[in-house]
Amino acid sequence: MSRAISAVKGMNDLLPTDVARWRALESTIREVVRLHGYREIRVPVIEHTQLYVRSVGEGTDIVDKEMYSFVFHDEPMTVRPEGTAGVVRAYVEHGLHAKEPVSRLYYEGPMFRGERPARGRYGQFYQAGCEVFGDPGPLVDAEMIDMIVGLLRRLGITDVEVLLNSLGGKGTKARYRERLVEYLEPHKDALSEDSKRRLTTNPLRILDSKDPRDQKVIASAPSVLDVIGDDDRAHFDGLRRHLDKLGTPYTVEPRLVRGLDYYSRTLFEVRGRGGELGAQNTLVGGGRYDGLVEELGGPPTPAIGFAAGLERLLLATSVAPAKDQPEVFVAPLGERAMGEALALARELREAGVPTLVEGRGGSLKSMLRRANALGSTIAMVIGDGEVDRGVVQLKDLAAHAQRDVPRAEVVSAVTEAVRGGSTG
Ligand code: ATP
Ligand code: MG
Repeated sequence: MSRAISAVKGMNDLLPTDVARWRALESTIREVVRLHGYREIRVPVIEHTQLYVRSVGEGTDIVDKEMYSFVFHDEPMTVRPEGTAGVVRAYVEHGLHAKEPVSRLYYEGPMFRGERPARGRYGQFYQAGCEVFGDPGPLVDAEMIDMIVGLLRRLGITDVEVLLNSLGGKGTKARYRERLVEYLEPHKDALSEDSKRRLTTNPLRILDSKDPRDQKVIASAPSVLDVIGDDDRAHFDGLRRHLDKLGTPYTVEPRLVRGLDYYSRTLFEVRGRGGELGAQNTLVGGGRYDGLVEELGGPPTPAIGFAAGLERLLLATSVAPAKDQPEVFVAPLGERAMGEALALARELREAGVPTLVEGRGGSLKSMLRRANALGSTIAMVIGDGEVDRGVVQLKDLAAHAQRDVPRAEVVSAVTEAVRGGSTG
């Protein structure tokens, strides 16, 4: 045998047993967003690098060090690190703003970031996210946060904390930036190297740093809420009122910034507590980005969105997958029975019953062992004797009961049994 090739570090295979859980998660998410009027959009995985530089922003971890970028035929390209930029590009490119006053879009799919892999942190990971274009909020902001909390509840993830902040609009952001630099400047020597640099390039980013040296300084940094403008404050207060009315719990965290530049006003994060999550406990991140559509060449359009990390949701949830193994296991004994088995399996599948035929032969005992291992409900045994008599033997694997059923009645007997859960 030659040496095997392994997967790239941080890139995971999802084997069928994993995929069963993924699909259960995805179908719950799809159902919840559908109930809220979101429609799915699918955009490419590869975009021009410039799209991310202009939206996510220079000085962010993503753009500075995490992007899978390459040059193809002289064009700088990037495999998407996040979903919003591509969706906004598509929104502008297809003029959706001219077709409907408000667009509610949902997406899901793999994202790619060159980060050091850890539990809940991978090079390829999956996000599901929603974006609302054309609604300035704050009602829709509250509805979105409440939808996320409701989704997590449906997934059995109830031990969570919603962190909420407002970055304000351009004016507030600029004032806060100034105030922050004023505060940080005297503490410069205590900051990490990255943050020293960010002090001039992107000071807000420093608040998002996980470096313990920075954390100490950040702990007593000024709050954006000290400098927030009147309109921005009214928006934030409106959001809080709606959440209070809904009874959706949240904590105001005035130093919450998050790793993308395009946010304005509402900003939120949902963190899971305890369980399997460990250090990577941020399940969902989102916020308002009222300036981004215009920044990317569209008309001024308010917008808000969020993205949930599916691997982290799976670490936190206990959703049980739907059964994905064949209900009926057909065990043909002998050459003549094989042909009969294939024909019967086809009839069953046409009637909507997932069916597997053991084509490798072997003893009845070994075939039944396999049927049990697969978790099938029924084993259908066909030997030459059964073929001669025009019957098959149906074995209820859970009840250990069996009976002969005439060939013509097999489909109805089986469909009844898998629906009713018994062959008797
Ligand atoms: P973190 O602070 O954990 O690095 P982030 O701020 O980079 O997260 P976002 O860009 O806001 O995360 O992405 C939204 C969500 O996507 C995160 O809350 C998380 O659940 C998930 N996510 C982000 N990066 C990864 C990754 N490398 N692997 C797995 N999930 C991720
Ligand atoms: Mg990150």
